[in-house]
Amino acid sequence: MTHPQSNTPQYSALQLAWLQELGIEKPWLPSEQFVPTTVSAPVSVAVSKAPVVSAEAVVSAARPMATRPSGASGARVVASAASLSATDAPVDTRALAAGASDMVALADIIHACQACGLCRERQQAVTGEGVMQPAIMVIGEAPGDYEDRQGRPFVDRPGLMLDNMLSAIQSSRTQNVYVSNIVKCRPPGNRNPKPAELSACKPYLLRQIELVRPFSILAVGRAAQALLETDESLDNLRQVTHSLLVAGQKIPLIVTSHPVTLLNHPAEKAAVWQDLLLVKTVSGL
Ligand code: SF4
Repeated sequence: MTHPQSNTPQYSALQLAWLQELGIEKPWLPSEQFVPTTVSAPVSVAVSKAPVVSAEAVVSAARPMATRPSGASGARVVASAASLSATDAPVDTRALAAGASDMVALADIIHACQACGLCRERQQAVTGEGVMQPAIMVIGEAPGDYEDRQGRPFVDRPGLMLDNMLSAIQSSRTQNVYVSNIVKCRPPGNRNPKPAELSACKPYLLRQIELVRPFSILAVGRAAQALLETDESLDNLRQVTHSLLVAGQKIPLIVTSHPVTLLNHPAEKAAVWQDLLLVKTVSGL
């Protein structure tokens, strides 16, 4: 895929502000200087054959799946395949997710779900928000305290950081992005979700991906390892174009740091900037 940018990239005022926040006064990171990306073999995930209906869209689709590029052009290919499978999930959530014909039905099921212990301490389940058929679907691992209270993913300072990251590549959750988490209920004390909780909730995310139909996925933080089912470090996973096959649709997946990490470790922003440019390229933005 040919990158749409010219050899002399143009940066908006918002991008320049973000670069300056990184300590980069001049935009010296044209896409041509990036390490070539890698496309991993896709994972086949069959959730259901229910028709796709976009009932919960905040904004109408950014682009149809039929126009998606087949992958990142110029990318090198690794043989290892991410293995995202719902087969180890409890049968009930799989069946429930498969029975959701649209996002409204899926949200109703998630809000009523008691398939794992996380339902006991949640204030409300956090499903997701954004546009249908987005250029990018951002996926985190689990909602935190503010998300649990507000019922929205990526809010407060991490949410603002994420929005700034997206703005730097001319994207937003009201324009061309959908945001969600693997686990829909907050783990107590913001602990990491347990494997059984991830497994129980995974069918909902898979059905969500199937319904949302994203152009690409940006997996942030530990969500990357969970989605790719690997113990590899984030540093080893980033700057690589992985892919996920969900219900027959191969979706490019890029890995980056969680916005919370950027708040605590601003030096990570330089690496994240490159991740953002990679997902922008992969998405054809
Ligand atoms: S985390 Fe997922 S599986 Fe567990 S109760 Fe919440 S919605 Fe159900």
